[in-house]
Parts: sequence; structure tokens; C-alpha cells
Amino acid sequence: MNYLTCPVCGETLQKAERSYRCPKGHSFDLAASGYLHLLPSNKMHSKLPGDNKQMVTARRDFLRKGYYQPVSDKLNAVIAAELGQNHKKQPFILDVGCGEGYYTSRLEAFLREKAIHSTVCGMDISKLAVNAAAKACKTVQWAVASSFDLPVADQSCDVLISMFAPICMEEFRRVLRKNGALVFAVTSTRHLWELKEAIYDEPYENKKEDHQYEGFVFEQKHKVQSSIHLPCQEDIANLFAMTPYYYKSSVETSRRVAALEQLDTIIDVDILVYRKI
Ligand SMILES: [Zn+2]
Repeated sequence: MNYLTCPVCGETLQKAERSYRCPKGHSFDLAASGYLHLLPSNKMHSKLPGDNKQMVTARRDFLRKGYYQPVSDKLNAVIAAELGQNHKKQPFILDVGCGEGYYTSRLEAFLREKAIHSTVCGMDISKLAVNAAAKACKTVQWAVASSFDLPVADQSCDVLISMFAPICMEEFRRVLRKNGALVFAVTSTRHLWELKEAIYDEPYENKKEDHQYEGFVFEQKHKVQSSIHLPCQEDIANLFAMTPYYYKSSVETSRRVAALEQLDTIIDVDILVYRKI
């Protein structure tokens, strides 16, 4: 089954040797590392959209040390349970905003180990992130694409994943099949509380947002709470670069982050499951 569609005309893409083609002749080559670039230049709002090299490196270096592994493990368990319940041959799982593929590749390996045969695809608008993902993992299908204009067929996804990434419900509704699951991770109230205490005079809790989405019913919430110990400044700086606070941080905040030698903090994440109706 071909799930991918041409980002120019919307027709189904067929795999040729080292490229994908649509019936109208639009062709997309696989990059050397193995990903597909499905973001036409007229839909790119900058030369290199998405996370830059520094961001990608910071996140990769942080995640590969396993600090967020409890989140990844919980995601894997939730998806395995979902596929066990709604079993279908070779389900299609799409991770939208996959970054450098930490959660995606761990999920694919986990399902393979459990002999749950599936097609796992990761998409992100950052070419640098997707290239890093494709270099590190050859068993996931990777593509550079926009979450707001997914090159994916209508109602083709069995499971849609969004890990801390921007969500576009209109597109999610379009590509997810009826009764398919939307699984996404959001930070909860106490996430990185001790980091905030260390860098802000008046830290505040994250807002709790329980959303209703048109066309979906909320089904489950899985909490992930865990303490992590960061033993060096490098890991702390990488963690800080992954947070939304990084972009709006003052000189003073940056100075405080740089002064931290080690940090014990809590991770507090909710994994939410919505069902498409
Ligand atoms: Zn086309």
C-alpha cells in the first residue's frame, strides 16, 4: 500500500529505484541517507525551515543519553496496546514532527521485537533533523514534509503520533482513518520544575490544557513522571535548548543556566490518546 502522496499535485507516489514518482511525472529522489524530501520549494517559507543545526544536535545529544526514555517506553507500550486491540495487517504509523527520530526509531524497534508488523514513517520540516534520523535508523521511512500539508493519503493512517510537536488537527483529521488513534505527548504542570526554580525568580507551573477536538473523542491519559539527574553543564544546556523557554530567555536566565553544574529535576509528561470518530 502506498501512503505517500505527491506534495505538488496530491496523486499517489510510486516507488521506483532510488526515487518516488507520481503519475503526472513529479519525481522525488531519495537522499543519500535514505529520506525523501517532500517539501516543494514554493512551500518552504525559509531556506532551511524547522530546527537548525544547533537545536538538532542539542536534542540528539540529550535524548541519546536516555533522559526521556520513560516517555519513549510509555509511548511504545501505549502503541503496542493500541495495535493489539485494533489489530490490522501491517498498520501504518505516522510520527508527525519526528525531529531526529528518537521516539520514532525506538518505537519501530520495539514493535519489530514484539513481532507487530507495521510501517512506521517519521516526518519533520527540518531537513537537518530528518537527515540525522535517516543516518541513524534505516528501518523507518523518513521524509521532510510540513505538518500543515502532509504528503499522505486521506484516511490512510492507523496511528498518528505527535511528540511535543506543533499539531494541525485539520490535517490529522484528514489523514487518520476512522477509529484510528491520535497519540500525543504534552508537558504537564510540574515538568522540569527544578530547572525553572534554578533559573527564574518566580517560576510558574505549566498550564493544564484539556482540549476537545472536533471529530475526535478523548480516550486515555497516561502520566509519565520520573526524576532525572543531569551530571554536567553540557546536558543541562542541551535540555534548556529543547525547551520553549530557550527562545525567550534573557541574558540573566542564560547566565544562570550556564552556571549550573548539575541538576536533579522531574519530568512530567502526559501521553494523550484520542479516537477519530
Ligand atoms: Zn505530482
